[in-house]
Amino acid sequence: MQKAECPQCGKDVAVGSHPTIGKIIQCEGCGAELEVVWLEPVELDWPLIDDDDEDLDDFEDD
Ligand SMILES: [Zn+2]
Repeated sequence: MQKAECPQCGKDVAVGSHPTIGKIIQCEGCGAELEVVWLEPVELDWPLIDDDDEDLDDFEDD
């Protein structure tokens, strides 16, 4: 079982024996949803939020 530090609360969060980049982990300490962004050593960061709404206005059909 590997662990990585939560960027929010600093707690060591278990990421499983074979974490993969992009895996979503929930911190046991603060409940934050975190994404595995690096391996060896495992690093956690905030997941990228897909918010495409701001681009939609550029596509107007006449
Ligand atoms: Zn945390």
